[in-house]
Amino acid sequence: MSNIFDVAIVGGGPAGMAAALTLGRIRRSVLLLDAGHGRNAPAEAVHNFLTRDGTPPSRLRELGRQELSAYATVEVREETVTGVRAGFHLQLSGGGTAQARRLLLATGLADDLPGPRGVGPMWGRSAFHCPYCHGYECTGRTVAVLGAEPARVRLALQLTRLAADVTLCTDGRPLDPAQRATLEANGVAVRCEAVARLEGSGDRLDQIVFESGPPLAREAVFVVNAPRQRSDLAARLGCATFADGCVEVDEFARTSVRGVYAAGDMARRATVPVPLAAVVAAAASGTVAGAALDQDLLGDDFGLPGPFAGAKG
Ligand SMILES: Cc1cc2nc3c(=O)[nH]c(=O)nc-3n(C[C@H](O)[C@H](O)[C@H](O)COP(=O)(O)OP(=O)(O)OC[C@H]3O[C@@H](n4cnc5c(N)ncnc54)[C@H](O)[C@@H]3O)c2cc1C
Repeated sequence: MSNIFDVAIVGGGPAGMAAALTLGRIRRSVLLLDAGHGRNAPAEAVHNFLTRDGTPPSRLRELGRQELSAYATVEVREETVTGVRAGFHLQLSGGGTAQARRLLLATGLADDLPGPRGVGPMWGRSAFHCPYCHGYECTGRTVAVLGAEPARVRLALQLTRLAADVTLCTDGRPLDPAQRATLEANGVAVRCEAVARLEGSGDRLDQIVFESGPPLAREAVFVVNAPRQRSDLAARLGCATFADGCVEVDEFARTSVRGVYAAGDMARRATVPVPLAAVVAAAASGTVAGAALDQDLLGDDFGLPGPFAGAKG
């Protein structure tokens, strides 16, 4: 077998592993390179994934790797890709190199946490961002939502479907009077003082401490996260991105750079306003990317016309 892989996949989260499965099952030679932890690594469990609801993120990865090991043409390496150039030539953290005919980026997002102080160890455990990932786990509990923007008001109202008690903490920011009235009419309390810090033990939140006024005892808090690309490989290749940093892809996971595909949280289509950040959605986009990559390669293998007739790009 040639030492040029059909496809190199950078990132072994649900998107990258799903693409590797699709490609392995059609006997494409695949090199999957993974740096280690995925975005949800701090969380206790993956929720909202049919048949895998409640599985620890590390276990889900383990199961994915086990399934891939059945496919002889898929090679998985625990290595970070540190550089890439056209062709596609990859530099690896171990000092080696690799080459592939096509490249799939599935490098995911990382979350910066602008605050408040103390949130770090609680992230994914009692400080959350997504009601579909962790809202249900707040059933019957005392919950706070930080922020004053309309989306935060919306989230606070949504959580009243689950939590025993919801407070919106504006952290010193002004709140629209009409929105305040809607919150209060629906049982959501409002605290307007600036937030000083979160206090608790280990990953467990006990209370929110304000710059002034009494602390607020809480079991969970929804904070504002700032997602960013975990890797700069797409930028280095010159892939077009949106203002939020996401890589622009079409229906077939193609980026603006020929031969470079992207899947998972890091990429989205122009018609989708935010990445569909969920494990099952990332896996689905990886499956689509895998099939598109195989079709693209078939064109080269047999001198066939492009498979994406009618698609943009
Ligand atoms: C705290 C938290 C909890 C969450 N809980 C849920 C949940 O319950 N249910 C749900 O559906 N979704 C959940 N999500 C969202 C979920 O984590 C993502 O949607 C999903 O992980 C995206 O998969 P991905 O494959 O795109 O990226 P990731 O899972 O982030 O995987 C990307 C992989 O690429 C690797 N990588 C990056 N750069 C390189 C490089 N240069 N070389 C080699 N490898 C590289 C990384 O190490 C990583 O393994 C949660 C997110 C967070 C932040």
